[in-house]
Amino acid sequence: MSEQKNAHVIPVVKHIALIAHDSRKQDMIRWCDENKESLGKHFLYGTGTTAKMISEATELPVRGVNSGPLGGDQQIGSKIVEGEINFMIFFWDPLSMHPHDPDVKALLRIATLYNIPIATNIATADYLLTSVHMNQPYEGKLIDFDQYLNRKL
Ligand code: PGA
Repeated sequence: MSEQKNAHVIPVVKHIALIAHDSRKQDMIRWCDENKESLGKHFLYGTGTTAKMISEATELPVRGVNSGPLGGDQQIGSKIVEGEINFMIFFWDPLSMHPHDPDVKALLRIATLYNIPIATNIATADYLLTSVHMNQPYEGKLIDFDQYLNRKL
């Protein structure tokens, strides 16, 4: 296991994950289009279908991983653990069941554990993108992983 730190810096140029469940994809595309200029300053990633739809509609370059139900959420989660993704906009659907619900939960858990900014609705996404923290490096405190790793068993 790699060495664990208790802080991580989110740089000015961020690596942003964009994910939307089917019923929220049009909201995501509209939001990306409205914020195209700001988003264009960052590296963008997305689950397969979301990435493709955003790229087609806005011409923003979005690097796609697998589709969410085919493991894409887990790939994004793994990139968060590796420190490759440090910001996430995830418009999940609060009104339907999803076959990959455990993956969705896991992704939200990992994003919370690694203390990256997460927006799960348009209002929070608007607040995040206009935050003063967007324009300067942000030192995110992590919970004490060492305490967990060195626990008495
Ligand atoms: P999709 O995946 O962008 O490939 O549709 C999103 C999801 O359902 O997690």
